[in-house]
Amino acid sequence: MLYPVMFFATTIGKTVSDFLVKNFPDQLDYEFTAEMEERLDKVAHRKLKWQGVLSKFYGPFARRVKQVEEKGKRVKIKTEKTGKKCPKCKKGELVIREGKFGKFLSCGTFPKCKYSAPIVNYFRAIRCPDCKARIVIRKTRKGREFYGCEKYPECEWASWKKPTKGMKKTTKKEKEKRTRRNNKRRREIEKKKAEMEKAEAKKKKEVEKAKEEEKKEVE
Ligand SMILES: [Zn+2]
Ligand SMILES: [Zn+2]
Repeated sequence: MLYPVMFFATTIGKTVSDFLVKNFPDQLDYEFTAEMEERLDKVAHRKLKWQGVLSKFYGPFARRVKQVEEKGKRVKIKTEKTGKKCPKCKKGELVIREGKFGKFLSCGTFPKCKYSAPIVNYFRAIRCPDCKARIVIRKTRKGREFYGCEKYPECEWASWKKPTKGMKKTTKKEKEKRTRRNNKRRREIEKKKAEMEKAEAKKKKEVEKAKEEEKKEVE
């Protein structure tokens, strides 16, 4: 069975698209792209020289890029107001921004003040059975919801099920099991992170090497 898949544009995506349409109307024009495609086809069939096609496009485009860089207005990405004051600078208002990993709290005066914090959803019906701190509704990295203690990692209480009033305290044995599991997970995450950093460093090195070789060829 096929499931319908829905795609949603993020605020950043919409903002970037609006910016491009506004500042590069010629390059994003339907007729322009259609004509370009035709010309590239002709280049592929050796009916046109690529140098001419490229220089015809590149001159006006480079000028436009420079103009936009110099005069284009910096676009403010839409934020949601919270009505709360920033706890760091005590001046700006806290706003909700959309980042790579979803929504987060941020100071309205950014980049002046760099305060940022995750958005916390409290589960208000009961408190943590182990330490009486508040319970937070969190999501795993795969998006599954769970309940966890606000004091994590000091208190590792967590539950997939909605907490209820009669919930028992975690026994010592269960606590040890939970700590072992969390430590294992943390080690795995750190390992993955280290691998990713290593791969990125390698890629960077390769890019630099390629650049240097290019330079040598030019000389
Ligand atoms: Zn602030
Ligand atoms: Zn707790």
